Amino acid sequence: MNEAKTVVILGGGVGGVVAATTLRKQLSAKHRVVLVDREPDHLFAPSLLWLITGQRTAHQISRPLDRLTKKGIEVVCGDIDRIDPNTRQVSVERSSTGETSRDIEADYLVVSLGAELAPDAIPGLAGAGHSFYTLAGAETLRDALRSFDGGRIVLLTAAPAYKCPAAPYEAAMLINDHIAKRKLTGRTQIDLYAAEPGPLGVAGPDVSAGVRSMVEGAGIGYHPEHQVVSVHPTERVLTFANGATADFDLLAYVPPHRAPRVVRDAGLVDDSGWIPANRNTFHTRFPGVYAIGDVTGIPLKMGKPLPKAGVFAEREAKVVAHNIIRDITGEGETESSDGHGECFVETGGGKAGFGRGNFYAEPTPQVALHPVGRRWHIGKLLFEKNWLRRF
Ligand SMILES: Cc1cc2nc3c(=O)[nH]c(=O)nc-3n(C[C@H](O)[C@H](O)[C@H](O)COP(=O)(O)OP(=O)(O)OC[C@H]3O[C@@H](n4cnc5c(N)ncnc54)[C@H](O)[C@@H]3O)c2cc1C
Repeated sequence: MNEAKTVVILGGGVGGVVAATTLRKQLSAKHRVVLVDREPDHLFAPSLLWLITGQRTAHQISRPLDRLTKKGIEVVCGDIDRIDPNTRQVSVERSSTGETSRDIEADYLVVSLGAELAPDAIPGLAGAGHSFYTLAGAETLRDALRSFDGGRIVLLTAAPAYKCPAAPYEAAMLINDHIAKRKLTGRTQIDLYAAEPGPLGVAGPDVSAGVRSMVEGAGIGYHPEHQVVSVHPTERVLTFANGATADFDLLAYVPPHRAPRVVRDAGLVDDSGWIPANRNTFHTRFPGVYAIGDVTGIPLKMGKPLPKAGVFAEREAKVVAHNIIRDITGEGETESSDGHGECFVETGGGKAGFGRGNFYAEPTPQVALHPVGRRWHIGKLLFEKNWLRRF
């Protein structure tokens, strides 16, 4: 008989929820599965793009995390204030039990704390526009689009590395579609200024060119290699590192990303700023401590890191959960991540493209982009439905 173990999962986003539900399904009740998040609700982030254009509400794309308690998962709502990766001890502030601080000890620790958004890293950015990577920012953008009556809409990626590399390109095309439905095309210009040299660069030149032609084919101005350095919120002017400037009437932006403060303070990150983890098993250098999803930095042979995306967080969570179960029960085979991933690219008008491939292929990832069609949009709708059914 194996002794009772405690698995603590930090973060109730994509990776955390998948890890917790997979573990709970297969571990007997004597083993504890604890999930900690500061937010009471899990948000299905891909649907924020539909929320912007009024096709979803916050309620439709969120689920209370404490519903997972029905499955036997202990859900702790609080701010993770300190992680000791050597002892696998975690301090949580403002826990749901009313305590102001609580320490939790883990036999296995799974860090899935995602990326912290840092609009403050660019002077003027936070006060100038809408960060559609958060629920609050997506809602203010939706409201601003409702009252928009023509002018210049600028979408901006404020640093080259951000989660879901397709999202700002999809947002531009969905907003373009929304503007067309409101019959404002004649008096609206939409431009996308990108810090990166092209869309979805890690997926290879063909995918990048394919997504670029979707955006430009929709009449959206595309300006790559424009790293914003400051924003003048009252004059509504962006200044870029290359000396160019651009004005806007409505600004929607993807802020710079960094590892969460608690992860940096724990000494878990390396020079990349993210947690280094084995790319097949997601072990960190600390025994019993795993890191998955956006908080990790997984270098690829091509010289760029594995993109931050829910599809990878989900698969990494399954691998880690299975291997912890194997470690505890002694049953089953060791699993390993193979770097496969896919992504829908919403283009508006009820259509989408679809990219799929092997991101661990060497010397470069092998990813194919399937032509835009209605079936990929339906695929994304079904994916959303299945995801939310988990709760
Ligand atoms: C607009 C948008 C569209 C997207 N579309 C897609 C898509 O189509 N396909 C795709 O694959 N990916 C997509 N993504 C990316 C995807 O959402 C992320 O890659 C994924 O959520 C990463 O999962 P994760 O578990 O690593 O982190 P997250 O899901 O971000 O979860 C991290 C959790 O940790 C919690 N947390 C952080 N710090 C603390 C702390 N100190 N204390 C307590 N809790 C804390 C947070 O509250 C959060 O719930 C999209 C993202 C956005 C914003």
